[in-house]
Amino acid sequence: MIARRRASAATRVRLAISVLALTAASAAPAATLIHAGRLIDGISDAVKTNQTVVVDGGKITAIESGFRAPGPNDRVVDLKNGTLLPGFFDMHVHLSSEYSKNSEIEEYKLNEADVAINSVVYADRTLLAGFTTVRDLGDEFLVTIALRNAISAHKVPGPRIVAAGKAIATTGGHADPTNGWAHRFQHDPGPDEGVVNSVDDARKAVRQRYKDGSDTIKITATGGVLSIAKNGSNPQFTEEEVRAVVQTARDYGFKVAAHAHGAEGIKRAIRGGVDSIEHGTFMDDEAMKLMKEHGTFYVPTLSAGEWVFHQAQDPNFFPAIVRPKALTVGPQIQQTFAKAYKAGVKIMFGTDTGVSAHGQNAHEFKLMVDAGMPPMEAIKAATSVPAKFLDLDDRTGSIAVGKLGELVGVPGDPLKDITATEHVVFVMKDDTVYKAP
Ligand SMILES: [Zn+2]
Repeated sequence: MIARRRASAATRVRLAISVLALTAASAAPAATLIHAGRLIDGISDAVKTNQTVVVDGGKITAIESGFRAPGPNDRVVDLKNGTLLPGFFDMHVHLSSEYSKNSEIEEYKLNEADVAINSVVYADRTLLAGFTTVRDLGDEFLVTIALRNAISAHKVPGPRIVAAGKAIATTGGHADPTNGWAHRFQHDPGPDEGVVNSVDDARKAVRQRYKDGSDTIKITATGGVLSIAKNGSNPQFTEEEVRAVVQTARDYGFKVAAHAHGAEGIKRAIRGGVDSIEHGTFMDDEAMKLMKEHGTFYVPTLSAGEWVFHQAQDPNFFPAIVRPKALTVGPQIQQTFAKAYKAGVKIMFGTDTGVSAHGQNAHEFKLMVDAGMPPMEAIKAATSVPAKFLDLDDRTGSIAVGKLGELVGVPGDPLKDITATEHVVFVMKDDTVYKAP
């Protein structure tokens, strides 16, 4: 709540709040009283009405019926016409980039510092959209590791980041950093740069991520849409390589996420022991069955599917080799998600933002609900479910006394209109109100 050394340009709202907080801090420690018309706690299916949630010293200290009158130094957040929820999780983002028509050429024009500064801006947008925790599944120059550290040290505002650092690929595969370059510019990247071609390489690449300071591991088990390569769904790891990644990851306490579009690559990844399948576009019945048997989570990234399909309508937006992949993968993901949900596959909210624009993460809720997931389940998939997956459920992902005050307010009732989540009016994290109604 103290005005922190923030590097971001403070909005007028945030400045005003900081001044208030400073004034209060000099008198006595103030609590924040949130008067919530509705409260969805992230775990219960029941919605409570007319509640006061008290946040003091960064933690929820009380949840009471009715609107408690503030003490002289307390700050009141008036959310009487809205709904209070736990801060959202996005389990698949890329904070170091945002795709545009210039993305290909920017690889040659941007310095590490440009990428790092962009990531600070994107983190700010993500937080203001109500996302207090993200899993970053692949960056450049390890900027998300530096960003994670800067955010947790309160140097810059942003969500809590669980960072993969460099994604692990195979030669020529999705996330080979020299993929698509003219041959004379290419070199032969190895495990240090996240490219593996054997079981030994796979182990070394995971150990390098540990050395880099990563929190989790990401592999690209199949081709991808946006890489400069022909096939968007072919298997690109052997099952033995996946297994070597997973077994080594366990030694370091890492979970493993696998980007995968094609069914064969998805199955190898599940059998190899990964914890989540990202995109899962061409998942068949057998893959869904395997996911249920292995307890593998599905992170659908419907937003990315919708976005690439939309952009592909413009024949000049994507490089020619990318466009046909965008046209097939885009519409398929939502159908696969609908089927996987019905089949009982475990689902977590994730957008692949950085493909679509940062700060629009909550649009995923609408896509999930449109595909048949009830709003309350979509909300849990973005709160308590990922909190448990990331072993953060003792601290966050639900609204309960003792949990961190990582809270989001939306107008109206998101169970009636899920797009309310796209119009976040209140964001609190680290005892700081970043957005107030
Ligand atoms: Zn991604």
